[in-house]
Amino acid sequence: MEIITRQQAIKEGLNKYFTGKPCKSGHISIRYVDNYSCKECRKERGRKWKIDNRERHNRYYREYNKKIGYKHCLHMKDPEENRLKSQKWRNENSEKAKKTGREGQARYYKTNPGKLRHLCYQTAKRLKKGDVNNKLNSLSYSPEEFCYHLIAPFPHLSTLEQAYGNGYSIDHIVPLSYICNNIEDIELAFLIAMDLDNLQLLPIKENMSKNNKINTQQTQQTIKYLWDKYIKI
Ligand SMILES: [Zn+2]
Repeated sequence: MEIITRQQAIKEGLNKYFTGKPCKSGHISIRYVDNYSCKECRKERGRKWKIDNRERHNRYYREYNKKIGYKHCLHMKDPEENRLKSQKWRNENSEKAKKTGREGQARYYKTNPGKLRHLCYQTAKRLKKGDVNNKLNSLSYSPEEFCYHLIAPFPHLSTLEQAYGNGYSIDHIVPLSYICNNIEDIELAFLIAMDLDNLQLLPIKENMSKNNKINTQQTQQTIKYLWDKYIKI
């Protein structure tokens, strides 16, 4: 890299310069004219921010992807092709896939949203099978009521199994992320998340494009209803 002073860079209308001297963290890297910062330092800060603000980062990322029409997002553009592609990759890299999968899962389940999501997923699975265990006893409905509530709005569906087979999935009207951000107690969060009035069936594609938005009328009404029901002030 050629050495160019900040003064010189400004004169030439460039936004970067290079001194060849290490920054205070020891990087020998390009610096930015606007605030003297080193490129490597900036990258490190960005990476740290991403980890510390995972939710916010994901939100930005989703918004951005939507804006550019899911250009880099095969699972939104073409779910089927994406499935085949990742399956192929997993087959060719089975050890690596297992390892990264386990690591990601462990990292995620340590967080409250991860725990809640896992709990809800397992519960829905058991309810579908008609299984009743202790956890489910805290819910005020039976597996039959659960299935009936979900498929009742769809006359062409007769079982939950059939609904899944037709590309429907369970949607939490008030998103789990919102519940987690506002309810610390995981048991209470679970009850709210799994209240029948918070559950509906949606086609998977519609469900994925909801992007955890809470500003719809349905979501706002449900928040009000559930918060009145569970959180007594
Ligand atoms: Zn640096």
